[in-house]
Amino acid sequence: HAKALGKNRFCYFVPSIQAKFAERLQLGHDLRSAMAQDQLDVYYQPIVDLATGQIVKAEALVRWLHPRRGWISPAQFIPIAEDIGLINEIGDWVFRQATGMAKRLWESGRNGTTSGMSLQISINKSPRQFFTGHAHETWIDHLQEIGLPAECIAIEITEGLLLDERPDVTSKLQQFRRAGIQVSLDDFGTGYSAMAYLKRLDIDYLKIDQSFVRDMTSTPSDQAITEAIIAMAHKLGLRVVAEGVETREQRDLLSAAGCDFGQGYWFSRALPEDEFFKLLQRWPD
Ligand code: C2E
Ligand code: MG
Ligand code: MG
Ligand code: MG
Repeated sequence: HAKALGKNRFCYFVPSIQAKFAERLQLGHDLRSAMAQDQLDVYYQPIVDLATGQIVKAEALVRWLHPRRGWISPAQFIPIAEDIGLINEIGDWVFRQATGMAKRLWESGRNGTTSGMSLQISINKSPRQFFTGHAHETWIDHLQEIGLPAECIAIEITEGLLLDERPDVTSKLQQFRRAGIQVSLDDFGTGYSAMAYLKRLDIDYLKIDQSFVRDMTSTPSDQAITEAIIAMAHKLGLRVVAEGVETREQRDLLSAAGCDFGQGYWFSRALPEDEFFKLLQRWPD
């Protein structure tokens, strides 16, 4: 076929694009059946108060062990779920899992942190879930149904959401915060980082993207940016979570810069619920 087209170089690209498309289509199909067969899982990664060393929060992260391909990253399948209209279903499922876990944590009595606050579970919410007719009220209602205080939950949104200045986005965020659910701005610094959005939006936490944290010990400009983000966030009344903390050196630099919370492999990877509970039990007081 390529030969028949002669020297048309364009055709060299066709097979790989087709292959990618077919692969995406296949993954989307597999994801649908994984959802139907209850093959997804939710893992929990601790978030540590850098001043006290205590685990005070955890991020819920969806996991998919594909029967033939092994683990597939949510960074790969969440965008597919968005494209094929499966994101609301997955998002609702993760929410129910994570709130169920938060409730068990709350009841176990091991939720009490040194500050006396409840351990908070943070749940990612894709921008797409704000734009499609997803009913936010059902999340708020669900908390009442299971009897979980809203402070036990936070949602993480990305900057992509903020670029869209649709009033319904702002009102949906306000709806959550009025209900007592805190809001985190995820991956801060990777997008357009429009500072103006920060003062307009009702949010509680800012999560510094791991790309800054990764390079802050080797690159002075990344350290400067990280310190500036922390200082600015504090002036705006926000608290800061650093993502991707992998070394003691990074943790120490972040502590020195006044960063409130740290999350990363230095503390722990994301764990299945039972292992997360065990980690809490052996975590030094
Ligand atoms: P994110 O929300 O920024 O989550 C943090 C990611 O960084 C997680 O990747 C986590 O495993 C990883 N991470 C944590 N500590 C370290 C570290 O020290 N070093 C490095 N290199 N990575 C670290 P994960 O679980 O693969 O998730 C990737 C992305 O997929 C998430 O980024 C989030 O955007 C999305 N995602 C995950 N679960 C959900 C979900 O339930 N719903 C939605 N809408 N998106 C999700
Ligand atoms: Mg997140
Ligand atoms: Mg993040
Ligand atoms: Mg990220």
